[in-house]
Amino acid sequence: MQVRFWGTRGSIATPGPTTLRYGGNTSCVEVRLEDGALLIFDAGTGLRALGQALLAHPGPVRAHLFLSHTHWDHIQGLPFFPPAYIAGTELTILGPGHGRLTLEKIVTGQMRRPYFPLPMHAMAAKINFVQLGEGSVVELPNGVTVESGVVNHPGCTLGYRLTVNGTVLTYTTDNEPFGDVAASQHLAQPSHHVALARDADLLIQDAQYTPEEYHQSRVGWGHSTYLDALHIAQQAHAKRLVLFHHDPSHTDAEVDRIVAQCQAAIAQRGLTIECLSAAEGHVLEPFRRQALVVHKQATS
Ligand SMILES: [Zn+2]
Ligand SMILES: [Zn+2]
Repeated sequence: MQVRFWGTRGSIATPGPTTLRYGGNTSCVEVRLEDGALLIFDAGTGLRALGQALLAHPGPVRAHLFLSHTHWDHIQGLPFFPPAYIAGTELTILGPGHGRLTLEKIVTGQMRRPYFPLPMHAMAAKINFVQLGEGSVVELPNGVTVESGVVNHPGCTLGYRLTVNGTVLTYTTDNEPFGDVAASQHLAQPSHHVALARDADLLIQDAQYTPEEYHQSRVGWGHSTYLDALHIAQQAHAKRLVLFHHDPSHTDAEVDRIVAQCQAAIAQRGLTIECLSAAEGHVLEPFRRQALVVHKQATS
């Protein structure tokens, strides 16, 4: 399993000189399995560059695209995903609906006029929608499974637990696990979130704020501090924690400070969790019983 980050930024894309190292594109994570299967988590603005990279290789693009939810920063890359306009591409888009609005209606809605010049049916790819919810289990070839569970965020937001030959990757972005749980979100209790991440080899978790920022003015906005992220990782016995969905106001230097503070908290608690911050262009190889391999690939 290889994991590559194409977008790590929360809320809105933030290109510029202060975000060069961790990246300015919004959420998009590529997971490539041994058999070549392609899974994508979220379709933020990072999806565009992933699409360009996919077209550099011969053969049709086939992918399962798991959406955590349909806030802008998680779907805006889809209209700019070049393989979607090419016949022969097969795209399965999976994720939650919102009340009576189906996933398909929400995703196609962002390409309606006056929001976008082309309708989604202008895409030549074969596109299937699969609506997921609490406790859905998607079975892929070779015993690969993806389970989904509701996390605490405004609107229905799903976390995903991918299991491949005993290696577990949990992707839980956009959540405030220890904030007030809305009545309609009774499934989004912290224990539920911990269960999604239990014994994860790699936990990619929202860590948008510092505790100071959170308590000053951001309670109830649906995001975590790095200490919340660590708390989930600790309770779940996750082996590696990747801080994700960086606040748009945080510079590279501030993200450096946040990951250093999280690592210091890990040392202080006597834990062995490996912790790093998601950086655009970085590739991780989270195999069980091996140290985490991190390397940076040149952007194509
Ligand atoms: Zn987001
Ligand atoms: Zn969101």
